[in-house]
Amino acid sequence: MFQITGKTKLLGVIGYPVEHSLSPVMHNAAIAQLGLDYVYLPFPIAPENLEIAIAGFAAVGVVGFSVTIPHKQAIMPLLSEITPIAQAIGAVNTVSRQDNKWVGTNTDITGFIAPLQTTYHQDWSQKAAVILGNGGAARAVVAGCHQLGFAEIHVVGRSQQRLQEFYESWNDSSLATNLQVHTWDKLAKLIPQGNLLVNTTPIGMYPKVDESPLSGLEMADLPTGAIAYDLIYIPKPTQFLQLAQQQGAIAIDGLEMLVQQGAAALKIWLQQETVPVEVMRQALQNHLGLG
Ligand code: NAP
Repeated sequence: MFQITGKTKLLGVIGYPVEHSLSPVMHNAAIAQLGLDYVYLPFPIAPENLEIAIAGFAAVGVVGFSVTIPHKQAIMPLLSEITPIAQAIGAVNTVSRQDNKWVGTNTDITGFIAPLQTTYHQDWSQKAAVILGNGGAARAVVAGCHQLGFAEIHVVGRSQQRLQEFYESWNDSSLATNLQVHTWDKLAKLIPQGNLLVNTTPIGMYPKVDESPLSGLEMADLPTGAIAYDLIYIPKPTQFLQLAQQQGAIAIDGLEMLVQQGAAALKIWLQQETVPVEVMRQALQNHLGLG
């Protein structure tokens, strides 16, 4: 049985709100499995308290923490170092204490690409990715698609202005040389090229589970062997994935991304090559009633 001791080391997640975070479930399950004297806690930190909270974390010897909405960008000026990948994405989701400094990185890319690499290992260099949405998660998806070597990366959004800002934000980065942005009305032209179709919008999330960013009809022209990937993990499967499957596409939901970004973070904090990913996955599935 897990017990707090005088030596227990502290990990956690900062967000606001943070009470719905699933990270404590999977990280504490992994810690228990490894038999380590660590605990992972949720910390609700209002934006105006971020700086003082981070200073407090340093003072009490926090080993590392996850960062969620609304702090993923705001944390960046408070860190001593930021990895190139987190710089390129413009967001940090994992912070670790190294040599008395806070170092920030982003493990969402690792999380995103993991199921594509392990399950559908293939050469993506002749393939096109179509990404729905141009928010925070879309940035990790663009970087992930670039890392996988996609020939074309198309981002589709509803606001021309935000699309333009999204496009220009990559100007200094080599990560998005093959990036194009489009408004939703261009989708009919893009779908037949969409070897990978990713939903990064919140459309279809609980409780609006009957919604999908695209209809079955709109997905009817997906190429043979297309993969539909929804970053949403509840419901499982989403309406988007159900409709895509009916059109013959392969479906990937967001649960594995959640697990794998967490596993990548835990490896950094514990400075070890392997962590019990299956235990983390199972803990989440049980918690979400998917077990
Ligand atoms: P975000 O920064 O708010 O971005 C959401 C994007 O969706 C924006 O581009 C927004 O468009 C677009 N959008 C929202 N409602 C729309 C609508 N009705 N029609 C068309 N576009 C719409 O959020 P995020 O952080 O990227 O997260 C997006 C989703 O990914 C969430 O469901 C989140 O739970 C999921 N996610 C999952 C994981 C995982 O590990 N599985 C990780 C991160 C995120 P505008 O720019 O025009 O507002």
